[in-house]
Order: sequence, then C-alpha cells, then structure tokens
Amino acid sequence: MKKIEKRELNVYSNVIRQFNKAADLMKLDSDIRKILAKTNNEIVVNFPVKMDDGRIEMFTGYRVQHNNALGPYKGGLRYHPAVYIDEVRALATWMTWKSAIMNIPFGGAKGGIQFDPTKCSFNELQRITRRFTFALGNNIGPEYDIPAPDVNTNAQIMAWILDTYLSTQPPHERQRCSHVVTGKPIEAGGSLGRDKATGQGVVFTTEQWAKDKGFDLNGATYTVQGFGNVGSWAAHLLKQHGAQLIAVEDVTGAIANLKGIDPDELIKYVEKTGGVKGFPGSKQIDHMTLFKTKADIFIPAALENQITVETAPLLDVKVIAEGANGPTDPDGDEILQKRGIDVIPDILCNAGGVIVSYFEWLQNKRSEFWELNEVDKKLYRLIINGYERVCDTAKKFKCDWRTAAYIVALKRLEHVYKERGIFP
Ligand code: NAD
Repeated sequence: MKKIEKRELNVYSNVIRQFNKAADLMKLDSDIRKILAKTNNEIVVNFPVKMDDGRIEMFTGYRVQHNNALGPYKGGLRYHPAVYIDEVRALATWMTWKSAIMNIPFGGAKGGIQFDPTKCSFNELQRITRRFTFALGNNIGPEYDIPAPDVNTNAQIMAWILDTYLSTQPPHERQRCSHVVTGKPIEAGGSLGRDKATGQGVVFTTEQWAKDKGFDLNGATYTVQGFGNVGSWAAHLLKQHGAQLIAVEDVTGAIANLKGIDPDELIKYVEKTGGVKGFPGSKQIDHMTLFKTKADIFIPAALENQITVETAPLLDVKVIAEGANGPTDPDGDEILQKRGIDVIPDILCNAGGVIVSYFEWLQNKRSEFWELNEVDKKLYRLIINGYERVCDTAKKFKCDWRTAAYIVALKRLEHVYKERGIFP
C-alpha cells in the first residue's frame, strides 16, 4: 500500500490548476476569477481534550469556508492524520463546484481534525468531537455552515455535533436547529438514503455512462479503492446490476479474486475485522497490482492523489468513476485522456452525498420525513440533470469532463455574482 506523505497531498495546487484550465477555456470574468480563486474564511482551532488516562491532549481542527454565493456553506468533516490546511481548502473548493453543478442552494466548506481516530476509544472520540464543535461555536449553524460525514466520520459523530451545538443554543432556539448537520442517524433527524447516497450517485452516473456508451453493466468487472461508506455502497449497488467486483484495497491492504468477490460478504467481514485483508477466497495483492488489474470500471473511493503519473499508465479500465474527492491529480488526468480512459469526475460522480444532505436539510426545515423511494427518485433526477449539463458542456467546449464540470459550476457562479454585484 502506498504510504501517504504530506508533500504528495498538496491537493490545493491541483484545484487551482483545474480551475485555471476551465476559467481560461470559458473566459471567466477576470474579477469573478479573483474571488473564486480564494477561500472566504479559514478557521483554525486548537482545543484541549481529556483522554481516558487523564492526560490532556491538544488537537488542531479546521473549517474552511470557500464560497457562499449560492447558499449556506456545506461540506464534510474528516478525521485523519493527514488533514492539513491545503487539503481542507481543496475539499472546501470542490464542494462549491459540486453544489453549483447540481443546482442546489449551497456553498462550499470542509473541515477536519488532524489525528488518527483508530487510536482513540469511543469515549475519547466523543469528547474530541464535542470539544471541536464547541470550539467552532457559531462558525457553524443551520442556515450558515452545515457539516456532514466524510473520511472516518459517521452518523454517530454527526449526532454528537448536533447535541453539542443544540446545548450551546438558547432553549427556545433548539428545536429549529436540527439541520445544523446532515448525515445524522434517522432517529436524530437523518434522511432515509443518506448513508448510501454517495455510492448511489456513483452508481447512477456509472449507469448513465454505460447507457450512453451502449455498454452492458451485467457481467462487467470492477475494482474499488477504499471500502468505507462510499466504496462499499457503490460495490453493493453495482452488484445489483450483475457487475462483478474483482479487486479491492483499503487501509489494511489489497485483495483480488478474478472469479469475483461478493461485496455483501466483504461488508460483513470488514465490520467484523476492520478491513479487507484476509478475506476468505481472495489472494493478497500489492498496491500497484490493484492498479494493473484489468477491469471495466475502477472506483477510487479512498483519498486524494491516487491516480498520478506513476499509476495512470497502469490502469487497464474503460471508465473511472471518482467516488473519492480529488483521486486524480492533473498529470494523471492528462495521461488518462491520452489513453482514452473515460473519467466521471468527482464533483459530478460523488455529488449524491451533498444532494441527499440537501434533502435531509429540507426535511428538517419543514418537519417532514420522506420515503426512501422519494429520496432515490429525486437524487436520480438531480444527479442525472447534472450529468447531462456536464456532458453537453464537454461537447460544446470540446473538452474533458472534469473541465466541463468546472465550466458548468463557474458559469452559474459568474451569473450570480454579475446579478448581485459586489458590496458596497
Ligand atoms: P470512510 O472513512 O468511510 O472510508 C474510507 C476508506 O478508504 C476506508 O475503507 C479506508 O480503509 C480507505 N483508505 C484510507 N486510506 C487508504 C489508503 N492509503 N489506501 C487505500 N485505502 C485507504 O470514508 P468515505 O466517507 O467513504 O469517503 C471516501 C472518499 O469519498 C473521500 O475522498 C471522501 O471525501 C469522498 N466522499 C465522501 C462522501 C460521503 O458522503 N461520505 C461524499 C462525497 C465524497
């Protein structure tokens, strides 16, 4: 498995390269370009937490708010040792583009804490989450900035954030603030379909790609990197199309079985053991072999900068459905384009999460509870509309899909800034 080093993770420079390429091609207004090239606010908090053994540890948490021209800031929280300011800036910026492409009324933000949650107890995780929420104070809020799950955070963590945030509000405000986070447990105001939403979006966009290309998903093979929320749901849902999972990598290692790995059995195994390593019937492979495995579809669903000058030449697939944010760096992207490998870019492919977060937010605001099929139908409509906008823009500008996705987002933001003007 590839060791993740900080110098490899300067993903913010990737965002700026992607942004400049699209802005040049569409001739983005130069004033608006200056605005969107910067983040609005960057909050860094250092806060103490009492650990189980009584010792006090200091933690550093981030919340970067890139842009809110289209609506409240929105984006996940990541708990990982590699979290640092440039990564959070990049993730926040991608959130702005994602909501703009999908026509949902949110801006972009992201946050996280730099630590390894696998080394903490349940109670320590709870105290870290609550102290972080307290430290952020009114920098988050249901109509201002709404966090959600990301790498190593989940519905339980959202429930702690909700509870802590509500406890710091005046009593008469509390009942109308449950939309301060999304991705909550159902009982705490979550939406049906939010847990699978990102993986579902990956599969809806892959289905549409297959339809457009006249490609049959039944019998197709796929490989997945990252078997957490996004990777495991995408694998589970692709199985229902008759596609076959043949290799998977997570933080514990990589495994393969060319005769097929049952994603549902693998999900149960990972729940028990904490990782894919040692899954019965599979053989262990190394990181590079995962990339070399011939398949129809590759779903990166782990971290950034995985498809690079080193790994892009190895990939032997027809399409890459980017479940992760920023899995392909700009040099890797150029190689994929030259090699004729299609890419469904992250800001389109993994937007299912923010779309269903929007539905959860709406349900909370209206005190409603939607059926799962209603959520799925609405998700399908929004993400496929976004897909078609990107597809049409790629044709119009004769460009790759990532650049087209940026152009869709930038055009919407340019429009709004032109209408609203700049205060004063
Ligand atoms: P998760 O914590 O549930 O899962 C992450 C997975 O990646 C785990 O299986 C982990 O073992 C694996 N992983 C971590 N480091 C790895 C490494 N070095 N090599 C191989 N595998 C590694 O996180 P998630 O929510 O599934 O998020 C995965 C990706 O999807 C991230 O890029 C995230 O930003 C993006 N994303 C998530 C959502 C969401 O709703 N959760 C929405 C949009 C995008």
